[in-house]
Amino acid sequence: DNAQPKKPDWIRVKAPTGAGYKATRDIMREHRLVTVCEEAGCPNVGECWSQGHATMMIMGDVCTRACSFCNIATGKPPESLDVFEPGRVADAVKKLGLNHVVITSVDRDDVDDGGAEHFAMTIRAIRKQSPATTIEILTPDFLRCDPSVLETVVEAKPDVFNHNLETVPGLYPEVRPGARYFHSLRLLQRVKELDPAMFTKSGIMVGLGEDRQGVLQVMDDMRAADIDFLTIGQYLQPTPKHHRVDRFVTPEEFAGYEKAAYGKGFLMVSATPLTRSSYHAGDDFARLRDA
Ligand code: SF4
Ligand code: SF4
Repeated sequence: DNAQPKKPDWIRVKAPTGAGYKATRDIMREHRLVTVCEEAGCPNVGECWSQGHATMMIMGDVCTRACSFCNIATGKPPESLDVFEPGRVADAVKKLGLNHVVITSVDRDDVDDGGAEHFAMTIRAIRKQSPATTIEILTPDFLRCDPSVLETVVEAKPDVFNHNLETVPGLYPEVRPGARYFHSLRLLQRVKELDPAMFTKSGIMVGLGEDRQGVLQVMDDMRAADIDFLTIGQYLQPTPKHHRVDRFVTPEEFAGYEKAAYGKGFLMVSATPLTRSSYHAGDDFARLRDA
């Protein structure tokens, strides 16, 4: 039964319009960049793009994985990595005049290093053109790569290294079938070991069928892996073919998760129905840095 619970009114979002939104869209088109905001059908696109906050997705728009919550096309990517893409991303970041940028990617299990060097090149290109911009990366899990590829990414010194656990371990087979919960946790722990000054971040979606105890356990696992920042948002079904929404978690429950997470020692937590891993990432990071 794929019937969906009715969308509550706290989920409604404004349609994207306005000059700021259009300016961001034009810069993305002009530099031939893919954004997760559009590909994932993110509900915050109107708000984020009106402020120039677009999350660029590198390495193409076809993913070699097939997570059941995700709207990105799955298959064999048609192209090898575009060596000019890091430069185009850096140009766009400069044009957008961002204080903080989030860069993510599809998963490229077809590439030997999983795209680690491509991430590093992108970070370096942004740094060169916009030295004051803080850089957050949201990476794949590099599951099938030599563990040393992680060093390539960390050595490029992003300010925030984000990798999402997405859900509780018990739901991995149906939600994130190509991934391994403990591999992803270990990846983030390894980032911290390689560079203790680097901020690490992870996130999950709720409403997929997990329970509160499971969410609290994920928080404990994350803290045991020294993860600094946490995001929790409501899962929304992109199309009827995707994983069903089990339930809509109430704003009060989200507030409870936020409180619990701060109690467990996370430095920064965003837990609201419309939280996405890149939502307000820059504002939150600036607040922390200036504190
Ligand atoms: Fe894009 Fe993230 Fe904003 Fe969504 S929350 S529109 S993915 S920047
Ligand atoms: Fe989507 Fe990322 Fe899963 Fe690929 S690995 S299907 S981009 S969530």
